Amino acid sequence: MTPPGPAATNDQLGRELHALCAELYPLFRSLTGEGVRQTLRILQRVCGLDVRSAVSHEPALDWTVPLEWNVREAWLRGPSGELLADVRRHNLHLVGYSVPFRGRLDLDALRPHLHSLPDRPDWIPYRTTYWARDWGVCLPHRVVERLEPGLYEVVVDTTLEPGHFNWGELLLPGMLREEILITTHICHPSMANDNCSGMAVASRLAAEFARRGGHRRSLRFLFAPGTVGAIVWLARHLDEIRHIRHVIVLAGLGDPGPLSLKHTRDGRLELDETAVSVARARGTALIERPFSPYGYDERQYASPGVNLPTIVIQRTPFGTYPQYHTSADDLEFVRPESLADSYAFVRDLILELDAARHPVNRCSIGEPQLGRRGLYAALGGDSHAQERQMAMLWVLNLADGRTIVSQIAARSGLPESRITEAIHALERAGLLGWAEEMR
Ligand code: ZN
Repeated sequence: MTPPGPAATNDQLGRELHALCAELYPLFRSLTGEGVRQTLRILQRVCGLDVRSAVSHEPALDWTVPLEWNVREAWLRGPSGELLADVRRHNLHLVGYSVPFRGRLDLDALRPHLHSLPDRPDWIPYRTTYWARDWGVCLPHRVVERLEPGLYEVVVDTTLEPGHFNWGELLLPGMLREEILITTHICHPSMANDNCSGMAVASRLAAEFARRGGHRRSLRFLFAPGTVGAIVWLARHLDEIRHIRHVIVLAGLGDPGPLSLKHTRDGRLELDETAVSVARARGTALIERPFSPYGYDERQYASPGVNLPTIVIQRTPFGTYPQYHTSADDLEFVRPESLADSYAFVRDLILELDAARHPVNRCSIGEPQLGRRGLYAALGGDSHAQERQMAMLWVLNLADGRTIVSQIAARSGLPESRITEAIHALERAGLLGWAEEMR
């Protein structure tokens, strides 16, 4: 019997990631509540993360930790008693963070609380009311269209009270204190791509790196509710932010579209260039998009006072596929092969970022005197002498401990081999070291 090749392994990985999405999918997640804790327990089983918590009303930067929300039951019955919506059938039927309500309403009074998608009449939309006290029911538009005058019975049996706000975190220390932070949001109820796919891929990656070991940089995997989760985490880790070198935000990794990269705010950092070169090396199509301040938690990690190099890896960008934030973002929309492909790309990206070395000019205040060290002589008189000299000057100028060799090559317009040659010459002369060995 022949051992399974890479394709077979990928098939199995895809099936396992899809099965994990299927396990996470039905849970009633929101910013807080039992569904989030159930989710974290599943992720804990996968990768051994630690579950953390803050309490409601705790201040976090410019925000406060929200009340904890839980759902006992929620349904809507029509005038003749027919069940029109029930969270037991689909948790998207209830607007997230709906306050408790019980009563009979006529259709005109009910309508402002109903949400549907006229252009997608069979799908249930996803709505939340995190910061405004309200309640609402989400329905397929074909149901809303057929509603007749009469009395409707509404039960929204929820609790919204002081409690806990949870997230999960796994820190895998490396030889270096500096960190790569990989994060994904955990606050969405039953939608498979947004974001069971992100949780499945990130937790399996965390498990693989925990098992594999040997990484030089510390890897931190963070599973937190969107926006306020990142804000609470930042508020608690202000002293540690300086150790974070790269942030990778993961979401929407299972749809059939190609991978996409949302660049850092700067757009041409090591993180940007490494993501592009990893895709090129894998032969993976990668759609590149510039930074914008609208999106996932890159908004927090790239806020000016935090200013961490942050990219977002997803497949089809959020908001640009019709299934986004609807009941059609289901387990059929998410493909095992897309999940496996996203996983492999992010794994390779982390490996590449972990392996990166950053030259440091040891004589960086003013230029070192090259002639005294025989480095001009080493340039020789051949036709490449001019190029060799330029390579040396580019290396000396860009060896700031934060720039990788391929970036120096790209910036200089010289072949990478020429840059490497200059690095070796400068190293031999004692003028160049490596950031990783100096920390
Ligand atoms: Zn979303």
